[in-house]
Amino acid sequence: MEYVLSRKTNCTKIKIRVIEGVVQVSAPFSVSKKVIDEFVHEQEAWIKEQMDKNPILKNNDIVELLGESFHLHFIDVPRCYVEKDQLYLFPNKELIQRFLKKNAKKYIDLRFEFFCEQLQIHNISLQYGFYKSKWGSCTPKKHKICFNVNLIFMPLEFIDAIILHELAHLYHLNHSKDFYDLLCTWLPEYKQVMKKYKNRSIPRLW
Ligand SMILES: [Zn+2]
Repeated sequence: MEYVLSRKTNCTKIKIRVIEGVVQVSAPFSVSKKVIDEFVHEQEAWIKEQMDKNPILKNNDIVELLGESFHLHFIDVPRCYVEKDQLYLFPNKELIQRFLKKNAKKYIDLRFEFFCEQLQIHNISLQYGFYKSKWGSCTPKKHKICFNVNLIFMPLEFIDAIILHELAHLYHLNHSKDFYDLLCTWLPEYKQVMKKYKNRSIPRLW
């Protein structure tokens, strides 16, 4: 079974995680590749179970993009586009990622601008990427905020909450009480929104 291995100094045993269909294994430096292979092999049933929870989407499945539902069709011309409530994708990771990024950016840029205007925040540049374990990040020193393109699959109220979360990091870099106090003055239902969508998985399109 294929997996991505990362060696860590601060871990004491082998750990396996399945994120978006990728098997990620972390292990201490002292453990040999052979032992790791055996461990992964023993866990194969569990790994398959995790994979099945989030299978690659197929034709006619429903995909939610920016809060709207679309019927998915994989097509054999190299384009990705939407037409009414139909989503047409060429099954190529790079093209699909480019399409998702363009559309996530188009919406989030505007929404971000709206909040910045409300909160009198200026000169923050935005970046977009595909991240495995975070929705966004904020580097106040560089006046920079990054958003995960996968936000495109989440409801709009969740996207708002993440935008405001990152904006609050401009004032508090940690997740302290002060941070949440500020965030909750901007968005009182922040914690409910996070809880509501906690178990949503990101659809796999490739
Ligand atoms: Zn944070």
